[in-house]
Amino acid sequence: MSEHSNRPPSAHNAKAFIRNIYCVGRNYRLHAAELGNDVPASPMLFLKPSHAAETLQGGNLRLPSGQGAVHYETELVLRVGKAYYPGIVADELYAHVTVGLDLTLRSVQDTLKAKGLPWLAAKGFRHSAPLGRWKSFPGGDALAATDFGLHLNGREVQRGHIRDMVFSIQALTDYIGQAYGLEEGDILFTGTPAGVGQLADGDELAWRLGGEILGRATVAL
Ligand code: ZN
Repeated sequence: MSEHSNRPPSAHNAKAFIRNIYCVGRNYRLHAAELGNDVPASPMLFLKPSHAAETLQGGNLRLPSGQGAVHYETELVLRVGKAYYPGIVADELYAHVTVGLDLTLRSVQDTLKAKGLPWLAAKGFRHSAPLGRWKSFPGGDALAATDFGLHLNGREVQRGHIRDMVFSIQALTDYIGQAYGLEEGDILFTGTPAGVGQLADGDELAWRLGGEILGRATVAL
């Protein structure tokens, strides 16, 4: 590997490259309950294409229309800075953090779930992974001292805290690292807290980590 590719991007580099997009389902009890799902015994994972991701600091978020409700799921997102090996602690592995939206075509997902089909069509469409700007990963202790959330048309609709995760960041890291691999550029959507809901054309979104707005967009359906 070249020296260049090992150099971590700067903390505010919106072009930090993205490799695999891992997502965790049902990682907050109250969210699993609101959709009528059981909490899984091991992490329930799915992938999005890297084409789904984009850092948004305003402007339009163009979403699919005519396929039923598009739901927001506000999630803490971690970006890997080096190769995983067994025993590495999360504070060493992750280089960046932001908050992002795991956008979901909910009725499409319900149909896929009923048929036992993969979730790609419900979770992997273009623009389904809007991200805030990346910040340097502050460590698990610092994340535990803050929270994250989403404002929809000026009203807070979701608020999450890592203490409420079913599987901790370290547990997710070890599970994914050993089963599938984690390398620089991989990102991890860590699951949504309760309060998911439907987006409408013209909705103004602002998502935050602590008191800092990291991303903004206007929904265009
Ligand atoms: Zn999600």
